[in-house]
Amino acid sequence: MEELAINGGTPIRKEKICYGRQWIDDTDIEAVVDVLKGDLITCGPKVKKLEEELAAYTGAKYAVIMNSGTSALHCACMAAGIKPGDEVITTPLTFAASANCIRYCGAAPVFADIDMETYNIDPASIEKCITDKTKAVIAVDYTGQAVQIQEIREICEKYHLIFIEDAAHSIGTEYNGKKIGSLADMTCFSFHPVKTVTAGEGGAVLTNDEELYRKLVLAHAHGITREEELMEEAPHEGIWYYEQIGLGYNYRMTDFQAALLMSQLKKLPEFKRRRKEIVQRYDEAFAKIPEIIVQKEIPESDTCRHLYVIRLALERLSCTRREFFDAMSEENVQCQIHYVPVYWFPYYKHLGYQRGLCPKAEEVYRGIVSIPLYPKMSDGDVEDVIRAVKKIIDYYKK
Ligand SMILES: *Cc1c(COP(=O)(O)O)cnc(C)c1O
Repeated sequence: MEELAINGGTPIRKEKICYGRQWIDDTDIEAVVDVLKGDLITCGPKVKKLEEELAAYTGAKYAVIMNSGTSALHCACMAAGIKPGDEVITTPLTFAASANCIRYCGAAPVFADIDMETYNIDPASIEKCITDKTKAVIAVDYTGQAVQIQEIREICEKYHLIFIEDAAHSIGTEYNGKKIGSLADMTCFSFHPVKTVTAGEGGAVLTNDEELYRKLVLAHAHGITREEELMEEAPHEGIWYYEQIGLGYNYRMTDFQAALLMSQLKKLPEFKRRRKEIVQRYDEAFAKIPEIIVQKEIPESDTCRHLYVIRLALERLSCTRREFFDAMSEENVQCQIHYVPVYWFPYYKHLGYQRGLCPKAEEVYRGIVSIPLYPKMSDGDVEDVIRAVKKIIDYYKK
């Protein structure tokens, strides 16, 4: 048996490979530089153009571009009218922002459990969490796979809840042949560099509902409007006059970031093709290894995978997840864990959330490891990752 690098053996790779990485090329750089050389580097024409392009790409009526995915979630909660005393249902197997946005509005996140095979929020568990105080559901397309949109829509219609889709992982994914972005009441994207397309930092909310759209616009720009029909005071003073009609934030994106994102969107079909190719190769390689459980896909989702998560069948192994993770690092394959159940964090613990709340999410968390997945990986990189996984599994399997 090959000696593990962690025990002094030769690592599978000389250079470290990370779990995710952006793809920025010369066309992206030129697009940014062009804007920087111009007159308007923020509040110019690029953000508007990007909003049109993103709406056209997803098939949604309206898009509001923001400076992060977190801002997008916050504004979506504001537009949904979330306030103190309300409850909003979400998943614990997500980045903290999916729950924090509920707290920003003074409301209480209620954590529904996940499906053991897809790791997405389980619609049956959502229904069990509903009370008189429930106002919305924030469902996360974990790793890029669409949640059970149809089932969640039906629950939201039945109980008059707003359906917010946290699609930070899932731009490019299709559900029953329709692009993610126009299927929930509001869909939130993130354009952080580890996500599928990037603006450095950035986010967006998409909606088909004009009223929600107007609220989103106000929320992300100080609550200020220049539209006469929205103003309360008339007649107004002159063309300089604008009016603050609510309380909003400055969550705007710059024009040079918007130019970067438009350039990235052109590459999205190619990014998706390559991500799918890598996922297929991983699926095929791991199907033969009983110590590894792969994420199951629902047939409705044509997934542009953001993360590739393997789950260790720990009962078949003589190592812990931590030992596997550390051994991978020494082979120069830097993995990551997505995610620690949100309510385990001290902030939530101090609010009264207890371990054991979502047993399935906690069980899945104990075994998961995200291995490298990004379009710039070469076939050789992919094979290195597979070899590293196999080497460590062979070493520790019972
Ligand atoms: C990245 C991410 C966010 C937050 O997006 P930012 O652009 O980093 O603010 C929210 N939800 C999920 C599931 C994410 O992965």
